[in-house]
Amino acid sequence: MSDPRPLLMIPGPVELSPAVLAAASGPPPSHVSPRFLETFATCLERMRRVWQADAASQPFIVAGSGTLAMETAAANLIEPGDRALVLVSGYFSDRMAEILRRNGAEVVTVEAPVGEAPAAEEVRAALARGSFKALFATHVDTSTGVRVDPEPLCRLAREAGALSVFDGVCATAGERFEMAAWDADVYFTASQKAVGMPPGLALLTASERALAARAARKASPPPLYLDWHSWLPIHRAYEERKPSYFATPSTTLVTALETALGEILKHGIEARIEAHARAAAALRSAWRALGLRFVPRSDAVTGNTLSVLLYPDGIDAAFLPKIAARGVTVAGGLHPAVRTTSFRVGHMGYTVTQPEYLKKTVEAVAGALQEAGARVDVESAVEAVSQA
Ligand code: PMP
Repeated sequence: MSDPRPLLMIPGPVELSPAVLAAASGPPPSHVSPRFLETFATCLERMRRVWQADAASQPFIVAGSGTLAMETAAANLIEPGDRALVLVSGYFSDRMAEILRRNGAEVVTVEAPVGEAPAAEEVRAALARGSFKALFATHVDTSTGVRVDPEPLCRLAREAGALSVFDGVCATAGERFEMAAWDADVYFTASQKAVGMPPGLALLTASERALAARAARKASPPPLYLDWHSWLPIHRAYEERKPSYFATPSTTLVTALETALGEILKHGIEARIEAHARAAAALRSAWRALGLRFVPRSDAVTGNTLSVLLYPDGIDAAFLPKIAARGVTVAGGLHPAVRTTSFRVGHMGYTVTQPEYLKKTVEAVAGALQEAGARVDVESAVEAVSQA
């Protein structure tokens, strides 16, 4: 029997692989059973490989969404009065700035016009104008589709004596990120994106230097649930396969995480990232064949994990149900500047390994455009996505 559900092509949650779905559907194990300790330890080891982080870095697996990971980074690293440099490339960098302010930071922003990434030269100049505790950037901002290049940002932060923190919620496991080689300090994501899981886990890896910054904190400690010092002993015990307790982990989701990370690493993290790049390129040629235009202003700043597309003239959000009627769910606009003029198609995780998902999505968008009165070449769009 064919699956009557629409294909979920929003920028998270995403379609799951059959194995992850099965792993997420079992009875919950005890959080101190030997099997679960093995699972948790394996997840930590696999996170270091997916994050390309060194042995001294500490992955954290905590129940919560991506926003919890943002809160955690801010609460551990920022003391009242610290200066934080935030690169603004969309809605989620604005959220990071707000979280930092609520943690008492003096926030300085480097803003890019919608569709562009902040220029490295401006970042360098801003860093030179005073001392900063940390630089914060959104690897791929889900509201604009814009990707920043973290490697030079890590270097600039290091030269300025600042920590570098990256929101990888719409990027991790779908975009290149070499935490150890680039000497980044914090990289976090949420389970429902390119990791290919249901929502519910905040996944964060902190460098040795970031942990030292928490240890050197003079202000009052962070909220108990956010404090790395609450979680460190438990994570260290789990990695040694020893039972421990601070707050009950989502044992079901951690079980699914072991499978999801295992699938990512089956052919290596590079291969998984390359699959995202290939799927993104295939879709970009299909969108171009349909005459669609992009919110990101160049391919160089376009993320591989989603497409943020402008409605053609005369078409608006009323067109989205026409896509849904063809069995595919996409998302509306999010960034205030393009909320009513753009729509978003997510392509991350298991989805990028399924060419028929991509083809079905292009067919649905093309058919909906036709129905809305646009003159489009459906055949070349489908051919573009199939060939690539
Ligand atoms: N950062 C980015 C880049 C995101 O895309 C999202 C979610 N779309 C978040 C942070 C917040 O994550 P969550 O919705 O899981 O709290």
